[in-house]
Amino acid sequence: MKPLEQLVRKNIWSLAPYSSARDEYSGKEAHVFLDANENPYNDPYNRYPDPLQRDLKAQITKVKGIPAEMIFLGNGSDEAIDLPYRIFCEPGRDNVVAIEPTYGMYRVCADINNVEYRPVLLDERYQLYADQLLAATDEHTKIIWICSPNNPTGNSLDRDEILKVITGFQGIVIVDEAYSDFSSQKPLRMELAAHPNLIVLNTFSKAWGLAAIRLGMAFASPDIIAIYNKVKYPYNVNLLTQRQAMEALKDPFETDKWVKLLLGERTRLMAAFAELPICEKVYPTDANFFLAKMTDAQKIYDYLVDRGVIVRNRTRVQLCQNCLRITIGMKGENNELLSALRQYN
Ligand SMILES: *Cc1c(COP(=O)(O)O)cnc(C)c1O
Repeated sequence: MKPLEQLVRKNIWSLAPYSSARDEYSGKEAHVFLDANENPYNDPYNRYPDPLQRDLKAQITKVKGIPAEMIFLGNGSDEAIDLPYRIFCEPGRDNVVAIEPTYGMYRVCADINNVEYRPVLLDERYQLYADQLLAATDEHTKIIWICSPNNPTGNSLDRDEILKVITGFQGIVIVDEAYSDFSSQKPLRMELAAHPNLIVLNTFSKAWGLAAIRLGMAFASPDIIAIYNKVKYPYNVNLLTQRQAMEALKDPFETDKWVKLLLGERTRLMAAFAELPICEKVYPTDANFFLAKMTDAQKIYDYLVDRGVIVRNRTRVQLCQNCLRITIGMKGENNELLSALRQYN
């Protein structure tokens, strides 16, 4: 890895961050707070929340096994995806490399930040080759994006190939593990200590069932996290979100229960799809969704919409022609989908 100072944009490296009242005094002993121009009434919503979400991070450490100084929390993974562009990529000059097909936000954030996006096609099994990704980089490549289990394909990418990318690249490698709670593979976040150029993304939006509160996580070296914290909005995670996440983390077994249920339903739904005459192929998955190649994805999608059942039509995505992406729902929802498809002709 190149020294961080060479990877980070000059203006960010030398940035003096905004210092809020709550940064300057964060002790718990004081009882009169007249420092932040808050309204003294309407407790507890009158007070600015903890800008570094310390209590919440302490809970996350227990569940995820990552120390607090290696955790960034943001307004969804969206913030954790956008910030590395603003931290590392000089607009109009630097570029990023990513697998294709994958999650759309990596490209949207590249476009917003005026950073060249270089997609590298996966093979027909939706696997990556480290050598191909590395060959797409040049001296202006700051980030390589990998998503595993991948969206929309659902499969986990070959762990050894991912590690080859991480060790073979001089810049930052970001592995999005939004779906790792559904996978039996060992998560890459466990390898952070050995790889200072690795950033791993997790989210509360999927297994935790908290998409509405907008809370995403980035795990990385303390040096990288310190830069994330310098660039983020001071109060990027609001009090309601912090509290709701704390509640969920108190009972991680609830999440485990949901995951087990969903994995059971996934097995059942995939087996049923394999039997449908209009389904040509069900792709292996490690996530809470799967990809199915249909005889005519657009027609079947429209038919399902008419019946009030919405799946994701991915037919226009490269390597996903005629594919629908099916999120695993509750048993009754999955049955509605199946019975509609069985009546399709
Ligand atoms: C759903 C998803 C996320 C979650 O994004 P949030 O902003 O945290 O809701 C992140 N990455 C991938 C690949 C996803 O599919």
